[in-house]
Amino acid sequence: MKKLTSLALVLTFIVSLFTPHAYAAKETAYTKAKVTASSLNVRSKPDLKSKVIGKAKKNETVLIASEMGKWSKIIVKKGTGWVYSQYLKKETTPTHKVGYITAKAVNVRKKATTSSAVSMTLNTGDKVTILQTTSSWTKIQKGSKVGWVSNRYVSNKAPTKKPAKKEYAYVKVSDYLTLRAKPSTRSKSLAKLKSGVKLTVLSTSGKWKYVEVNGKKGWVAASYLSAKKPGKKTTPKPKPKPETIIVYVGSGTLNLRDTASTAGHVVSKLKVGDPLTVSKEKDGWLYVTTKSGECGWVSKRYVLNTPPKTDEVKSLATKTGYVTVNDLNVRSNAGTSYKVVTQVNQADKVTVYSSKNGWLHIKTPKGIKGWVNKHYISYLKIPKDDGGQHLPSNFSHLKGKTIMIDPGHGGHDSGAVGYKSVVYEKDLALSTSIILARKLRAAGAKVLMTRSSDVFIELAERPQMSNRAHVDAFVAVHYNSGPSAGHGLETYYQQGSKYRNMASYIQSGIVKYTGLTNRGIGPNNLQVLRTNTRPCVLVELGFVSNPKEVSIIKTATYQQKAAAGIAVGLNKYFK
Ligand SMILES: [Zn+2]
Repeated sequence: MKKLTSLALVLTFIVSLFTPHAYAAKETAYTKAKVTASSLNVRSKPDLKSKVIGKAKKNETVLIASEMGKWSKIIVKKGTGWVYSQYLKKETTPTHKVGYITAKAVNVRKKATTSSAVSMTLNTGDKVTILQTTSSWTKIQKGSKVGWVSNRYVSNKAPTKKPAKKEYAYVKVSDYLTLRAKPSTRSKSLAKLKSGVKLTVLSTSGKWKYVEVNGKKGWVAASYLSAKKPGKKTTPKPKPKPETIIVYVGSGTLNLRDTASTAGHVVSKLKVGDPLTVSKEKDGWLYVTTKSGECGWVSKRYVLNTPPKTDEVKSLATKTGYVTVNDLNVRSNAGTSYKVVTQVNQADKVTVYSSKNGWLHIKTPKGIKGWVNKHYISYLKIPKDDGGQHLPSNFSHLKGKTIMIDPGHGGHDSGAVGYKSVVYEKDLALSTSIILARKLRAAGAKVLMTRSSDVFIELAERPQMSNRAHVDAFVAVHYNSGPSAGHGLETYYQQGSKYRNMASYIQSGIVKYTGLTNRGIGPNNLQVLRTNTRPCVLVELGFVSNPKEVSIIKTATYQQKAAAGIAVGLNKYFK
């Protein structure tokens, strides 16, 4: 549009420079009029003495080219002629048409010629009243002002609502903003937009804005938009990082829905491999946020904890890993169909070179290279022994007891993320649980684990495993997070249950052997305890969010002490 306008201006300039008068004459507007006299003389000049060149009949329509004094110049077959103006009745348009300006900075002139003075300037979308139209010019009225604009820049069609300059806004909400089909809160939801998402504002209607985001158009409440990108709050205390759980679309396309049901409206189609951030889970559905900021529900069945398989080998910076299980097969290539070249055992230290299809290329302590499933490798040290001589080893009351250890989180659910991401709760929980399991087995207990590798297990499934195995005790192992100053140990039992004493013994044990702050025990209504019909507790073995505490709890020495404390508590409980 801008280019066209400048081109028009250049042309106008050239025309005005060389042929101003000819151009002006051509552009003169004609006004229709009716002859009121029974027979009207048309003369060669505006003078009664001039020659009569023709006659106009009553009610004949003539075109007035110009006026001079009492005379009107009208168009006749052979050119122009002059008649007495008083015998003409000018036609007025009974109802004025509405027009819209179609370009930016359109000049409205006093006369229908580009050499005429500009009386005002109008812009795209300005609504005007069309008073008269000639072959090239339109006489318009805007407010009390009347003038002429080139026909090129006026249309009787309302312009499509497009702002001249793109207007952007950012979503500013605490959770999400709903993009709707119509400007009403009762209207259909098209998408959920996260705070900070950038929108293109197309138009405004009352308290609503019509916006475009990721190719989708809809309405949002204007009060939740900000012209500036919402900045990060400057708080003196660093907030603990939110738990980030990433999953990947596993199949060709996956529907993102507005409710946790296949009956939910599809707000978007997700492509295979798209990463999704999970914020909650409900009945087999995950509430996720896409890379572009769209929120909604996806069926858990169709997502993967790792990006979908590609045959690409990813080179990793050589890392040290620890095997989490015994008798782990090391294969000649990345898959269970390949030949077993050797085996590794729990706590074996391996060198990790690369990854492919969820497998890791490793070197065993004996120097043999091969591939293992990545879930069985922890990057957190798993010690060979259960702790030094200073830790208790006599747990006579544990003999013959069936104890289930439940390392919290796992797989895509990393749990709390440590200060500066040094460690994940899921890894700490697993390594501590492995040490605890060894200790309990050494004391003659039968130990079951809800997981012994880095895999995701449904929260609801864990207490069911406990119930099915009819265990004598169930211990959920977790690490805490909160404000950076938060520190210490907690043990929870199910509200209203009779296992307060079990929580109390375990809390005393872990406080005694680790030396960390005693935050006490408490009843809690946690899913893993609530639906668990067996004696059960949940321990929180320190704060990963505390920079000082995380440096202690990530060590094998600390985890050995914590495991000893739990074992002491269980032993006392079974006494
Ligand atoms: Zn946890």
